[in-house]
Amino acid sequence: MIPAASGGGPLRVLVTGGAGFLGSHLCERLLEQGHDVLCVDNFYTSTRRNIIPLLEHPNFELKRHDVTFPLYVEVDRIYNMACPASPIHYQRDPVQTTKTSVHGAINMLGLAKRTGARILQASTSEVYGDPDIHPQPESYWGNVNPIGIRSCYDEGKRCAETLFFDYWRQHKLPIKVARIFNTYGPRMLPNDGRVVSNFIVQALEGRDITIYGDGSQTRSFCYVDDLVEGLMRLMESSEEVTGPVNLGNPGEFSIKQLAEKVIELTGSASKIVYKPLPQDDPTQRKPDISQAKEKLGWEPKVVLEEGLPKTISFFKAL
Ligand code: NAD
Ligand code: UDP
Ligand code: UDP
Repeated sequence: MIPAASGGGPLRVLVTGGAGFLGSHLCERLLEQGHDVLCVDNFYTSTRRNIIPLLEHPNFELKRHDVTFPLYVEVDRIYNMACPASPIHYQRDPVQTTKTSVHGAINMLGLAKRTGARILQASTSEVYGDPDIHPQPESYWGNVNPIGIRSCYDEGKRCAETLFFDYWRQHKLPIKVARIFNTYGPRMLPNDGRVVSNFIVQALEGRDITIYGDGSQTRSFCYVDDLVEGLMRLMESSEEVTGPVNLGNPGEFSIKQLAEKVIELTGSASKIVYKPLPQDDPTQRKPDISQAKEKLGWEPKVVLEEGLPKTISFFKAL
C-alpha cells in the first residue's frame, strides 16, 4: 500500500542509518510499499548482514557514507536514523556521537532544504533525561545532565531537535520529530549492550543475567514492527503535524521484571547478578502516547509477552 500523502506514486526515500536495527526494518517496509530506498550508513554500529536480503531488490541502493559529511542526492523523503543508540556504543567515541547528531542533522536538513524533501528525525526519550514527570508527555522539557557520560547522546539529540524546529521556522521545511522510547526486536546486535539483547543472549548462553543497580528502574519496551509503523504514519501525516511525537509502548516494567520474564521464556538456568548502576541511568521511563493516538491513529499492538519470544527466536537462530 502506498501512503495516500504520497499521491499514490512511489517515492525516493533516503534512510540514514538504514543498515542499523530500526533502519533495516524501515527499509524493508518501505520497499514492500513500492518505494525506491537509498540506504546510507557508515556501518559504525551495524553490519551488512542486516541488509543482505535487500541488496538483490531492484528498488534498493546502498551507499557507505558518514552523515557528518555533506550528501548530495535527489530524494522526496528523509528518515534521519543515523546515530549509535546503545550507551556502550555512543559512549565509545562521544565526540563523534555529538557530531553525528548535530552535523548529521545540519547536513540532512540542508539536503531537505535544497530538494524540498520531507524530513523525519529519530529523536529519543533520552531528551527527557531522568524524568521527574511520569509518564512523559511531549510538553515536558526534561531533566538532562549537560556534562555527564550520557550527554553526548542526550544533548546531541536535543540540539538536533532544535535544528529541526529552527529550519522549520526559518526555512519552512516540512519536518517530523519522533521521540522513540526503548525499542527491541530481531536484528539487535547480540553485543550491543542494550538490556533486552543482553538478557536474552545471557539467558540463552546460560551465563549470569547482569542487572545494573537493584533492578527497580523501569523502562517501556516497544516491539520494532509497531515502532516502524508509527514512524511511517508520522512521515505521511498532514503537514501541520511536526511533532515532537512520543512513539513507544506504555507498558512499563522494572528491569528485574524483565530479567525474570526472559528467564521464564527461555527456560534458562541463568542466575541474576547485580552490578553497579551506570552514572545518570534514568530511574523511570514511560511514554504518554496520547498525541500519537490522536494525530496518527497509532498505538502499539505487540505486548512484551508476544515480542520477546520473537526476539528470542532470532537470537537462538544466530
Ligand atoms: P543502531 O545502532 O542499530 O543503528 C544506527 C545506525 O546508524 C547504524 O547502522 C550505524 O552504523 C549508523 N550510523 C551511526 N553513525 C553514523 C554516521 N555518522 N553516518 C552514517 N551512519 C551512521 O541503532 P537503532 O536502535 O537502529 O537506532 C536508530 C535510531 O533511532 C538512532 O538515531 C537512535 O538514536 C534512535 N532511537 C532508537 C531507540 C531504540 O530503542 N532502538 C530509542 C530511541 C531512539
Ligand atoms: N548540504 C548537504 N546536501 C545538500 C545541501 C546541503 O549535505 O544537498 C549540507 C551542506 O554541507 C551545508 C548544510 O547541509 O553545510 C546546511 O545547508 P544549508 O543550505 O542550510 O546551509 P549553508 O549551505 O548555508 O551552510
Ligand atoms: N541494564 C541492565 N543490565 C544490562 C543492560 C542494561 O540492568 O545488561 C539496565 C540499564 O542500566 C538501564 C536499562 O537496563 O537501566 C535499560 O538499558 P538500555 O541500555 O537498554 O537502554 P537505556 O538506558 O538507554 O534506556
